Amino acid sequence: MENIKKLAQLLAESKDTMVLTGAGVSTESGIPDFRSPDTGLWSQMDPMELLSRSALSRNPANFWTRSEPIFREMSTAQPNPCHYALARLAEKGLIRGIVTQNIDSLHQLAGSKSVLEVHGHLRSAHCPGCGAHTDMLPLLDQVAKGDSPPRCSCGGVFRPDVVLFGDPLPDAFHVAWQWARVCDLLLVVGSSLEVAPVCWLVPAASRLAIINMGETQCDDMAEVLIRGKAGEILTDLVKEAEGLQRQP
Ligand code: NAD
Repeated sequence: MENIKKLAQLLAESKDTMVLTGAGVSTESGIPDFRSPDTGLWSQMDPMELLSRSALSRNPANFWTRSEPIFREMSTAQPNPCHYALARLAEKGLIRGIVTQNIDSLHQLAGSKSVLEVHGHLRSAHCPGCGAHTDMLPLLDQVAKGDSPPRCSCGGVFRPDVVLFGDPLPDAFHVAWQWARVCDLLLVVGSSLEVAPVCWLVPAASRLAIINMGETQCDDMAEVLIRGKAGEILTDLVKEAEGLQRQP
């Protein structure tokens, strides 16, 4: 609890706080992360192999058929207390916005308005051939019925609007880089900080706090380090912050 009070104080002192989230904020919504022992996706398969640009171009039917249950789980999950707590902190003016590595749209569903999705999202897909866009869920239904890979009317294979391993970074990353350089405080929640280049945002920030279940490679850089479940910790943080006013 002492660390939560200290973090609430840091938020009140900071004039510009940015939050960086990873897959750990969505495990309490039932979506597995990559690296948690036993429950992480990595314990079942190699996401770098399946969710890669080369896997999609080498065998698009296999890419879509194997990704479909994962994409569906991420596309139909509901926000948890961590997502709602972060939306509340933004509403109170205590955070500027969220940079997320997640592709599940749960921050927006919980009401967060300022969200930078540096790995894209699963709301839609597009055809690299003609540029047509389409909603994701009907494509997943098509694949589940055995019609894989889903094709555009021009004949091209649709690809999800996410950043696959091997893709260039979207423009959102460059905005995130600017945010990280100017913010007073970076609060990392639910990320192992092992995925580059997102982990490079951390040394760009002047002050750092981390909330995560497991260890991260940046733990020794953090002024406040809280280990545990993000939903519980963020709920306590909001309670603590409700009583605080941001310092002028
Ligand atoms: P990661 O799997 O590398 O790390 C997740 C971290 O969260 C772990 O260190 C784990 O200890 C911690 N964690 C798990 N549950 C937690 C909880 N309830 N409270 C606090 N911490 C918790 O994930 P990453 O750092 O985000 O990198 C993996 C990549 O996978 C990202 O690029 C992300 O886009 C992608 N991914 C996204 C989703 C999603 O959209 N929900 C899910 C899986 C993977």
